[in-house]
Amino acid sequence: MKYIVALDQGTTSSRAVVFDASARVVAQQNIEFRQIYPNPGWVEHDPRDILDSQLGALRQAVEKAGIAPADIAAIGITNQRETTLLWERSTGRPLCNAIVWQCRRTAPLVERLKQDGLGNLLRDRTGLVPDAYFSGTKLQWMLDSIPGARERAARGELCFGTVDSFLTWNLTANHVHVTDATNAARTMLYNIHEQRWDPDLLRAMDIPERVLPQVVDSAQVVGMLDRSVLGREIPIAALAGDQHAALFGQGCFEPGMVKNTYGTGCFVLMNTGDAPVRSARNLITTIAWRIDGKPRYALEGSVFVGGAVIQWLRDELKLIACAAESESVALEAPDNGGVYFVPAFTGLGAPHWDMYSRGTLIGLTRGANRAHIVRAALEAIAYQSADVIAAMESDAGTRTQLLRVDGGASANGFLMQFQSDILDVRVLRPTVTETTALGAAMLAGRAVGFWTDADLARLQAVDREFTPAMNAAERAALLRRWHRAVERSKGWALED
Ligand code: ADP
Repeated sequence: MKYIVALDQGTTSSRAVVFDASARVVAQQNIEFRQIYPNPGWVEHDPRDILDSQLGALRQAVEKAGIAPADIAAIGITNQRETTLLWERSTGRPLCNAIVWQCRRTAPLVERLKQDGLGNLLRDRTGLVPDAYFSGTKLQWMLDSIPGARERAARGELCFGTVDSFLTWNLTANHVHVTDATNAARTMLYNIHEQRWDPDLLRAMDIPERVLPQVVDSAQVVGMLDRSVLGREIPIAALAGDQHAALFGQGCFEPGMVKNTYGTGCFVLMNTGDAPVRSARNLITTIAWRIDGKPRYALEGSVFVGGAVIQWLRDELKLIACAAESESVALEAPDNGGVYFVPAFTGLGAPHWDMYSRGTLIGLTRGANRAHIVRAALEAIAYQSADVIAAMESDAGTRTQLLRVDGGASANGFLMQFQSDILDVRVLRPTVTETTALGAAMLAGRAVGFWTDADLARLQAVDREFTPAMNAAERAALLRRWHRAVERSKGWALED
């Protein structure tokens, strides 16, 4: 047995990655699938598309790698989180399209929960901020709108699952109905302290317990890949939400370790150890992973507009031809020339939380040019991430020593150096930036004894380390002006 395969089921594409024993990528395959927008603010996936694209990616990756299925020790699954599916237990037939995490249709149901005074209870038990983003009200909506569904669910005839659960059901011959603790922690139904579905929350959303999957560890064999897929049974040995898998794949095993993924948005997660930390700054408390029955907890904060601001410069302002060009253009300016850009296109998330904040370009003088604006956009990605990390440090009472980075925009050397400067911490970029897939592979490898804990700690090869080179006075001045710009962006959409 020489390989581990990770299935990374994302929002726009399904990916399969074959890793060897040194965690090097042997082959990978990505297959995009259809996004369905039935109404403004609604987002759906066809469950068939999710499954077919994932199976296609798996088969093609194994073929590309030129390996025998008999050489695959295990499969790990990581997935877009919160996306909600409902299917029939006897046939596996989905009752409707998957409701995708981005879908806002259940905002009124969340408002009702808040009006019923359940906001604090929800926060205490699930660690989440009540929002339509999470699975609970999506399932409630399905049970409300499909005739007879709630009664059938109560009789045990239906299965709810997030994408990990749906894939496991369909990839295993015996149709195992499970989810792992990290995915359960995103449902708004799971008590992260007691590690069980919460009866009070189930009652509040009118969800019968029999529809829910059994919650398992993130690293454990949950079933065997059906022989029909690759001609051989292979253990499915890990399930974890994408950001949790990335935290594991970055080797953030100890309390205080932090990773930031610079994609369309930025996702910062900090390992907080055995105890959940309740945030005083509206960060999310979540389960990092559960291994050997023991949960590890994490704080999570996200930046809505990260790499997306670079896409905006490219597609709307046409200031750059491609995302990578942002680096050389930014470096044409010796400094930001006093220009600050708050990319609050959809409001601001943690720790500012202002949904009426809007994009603000400020500090312009006659001397401001393209390089200043591009630079201000890249700096904004780093400032926003720094604000989230500062909130985490103050919630957790720790000081970050090292930031591990991945995601598309982590390729930008200027951005990474500026991130290191503005945080005054070292920034470590690994060779394998497919850390989500790597994390799922590592969890699966651990579950089947392919890797020991000591092996796991050695699997992250460093591509480049960035060390802070900015003096304290300059850092403080930049942050002060950034925060003044943030203040000026707030409430804009209210003032009509
Ligand atoms: P996602 O998984 O959210 O689709 P990716 O991890 O693939 O995101 O990263 C894509 C994002 O990274 C895009 O928003 C893009 O603008 C940004 N990006 C990619 N390369 C660079 C670069 N060299 N500099 C700055 N931003 C970049």
